[in-house]
Amino acid sequence: MKFAFDHDLHIHSHLSICSTDEGQTPAALLEYAKHNNLKQICVTDHYWDSAVPCNTGVNWWYEKQNFEHISSDLPLPKAEGVDFLFGCEADMDSDNRIGLPKSRYDDFDFIIVSTTHFHHMCGEKWEDISHEGVARRWFDRMYAVLDSDLPFHKVGIAHPACKLMNRASREDYLLTLDAMSDEALYRVYKKAAEVGVGIELNSDDFKFDENEADRILRMFKIAKDCGCKFYLGSDAHTRGGFNGKNEAFEGIITLLDLRECDKFHIR
Ligand SMILES: [Zn+2]
Ligand SMILES: [Zn+2]
Repeated sequence: MKFAFDHDLHIHSHLSICSTDEGQTPAALLEYAKHNNLKQICVTDHYWDSAVPCNTGVNWWYEKQNFEHISSDLPLPKAEGVDFLFGCEADMDSDNRIGLPKSRYDDFDFIIVSTTHFHHMCGEKWEDISHEGVARRWFDRMYAVLDSDLPFHKVGIAHPACKLMNRASREDYLLTLDAMSDEALYRVYKKAAEVGVGIELNSDDFKFDENEADRILRMFKIAKDCGCKFYLGSDAHTRGGFNGKNEAFEGIITLLDLRECDKFHIR
């Protein structure tokens, strides 16, 4: 059976500083779910826990989005047939430290970790901006996540092919993806499949021209080949951000020829 668009596990509310829509409330998220007949949605606001030291170029941004802040919309509203989960988009700093302590694992139904927010990082280690250097950093981060003690049965890797990994130019971003060898991608995604982490299909990662398709799809095809399981994420920060997601997700599902057996389920 074809992979169904029946969930969205990466959505921001107005509590994320980068949301520009006061109306992006939990109630608005629930409306989106009902409108699209989604069975499961998750609010994943940006989050850095106050108990974890943070080393980035914009510490203020991370420090503001602590647990007290992102949990201030709880309890989430309910609707028949919609499983509305409380999650977070955890991040990593310049030292590849994850801003989520073990003591918080039970506070979330689902946790996504970004390995590609490179635009906030600083320090000597981040000075190598060659495509190979940036690609290497992404692998380092992936292994930092996969070697951690995160509860992988309820963890996803957010937007693994996000253009934020290299903002120099569109071509620099694509050349960074090109710098990841098939062999290294197979190794990292085999490990991802082994630990059972979900791999996000973020609609923004799949906004590409026809001639760019192979370069972006390569890592996802390898992940599929390795037996990884996938979930969909709109990464909507505003109510307008939900527009066109239905078509976008159907496109991704077709491009990767996904079946229901390829779907990640939170356990
Ligand atoms: Zn993100
Ligand atoms: Zn996000």
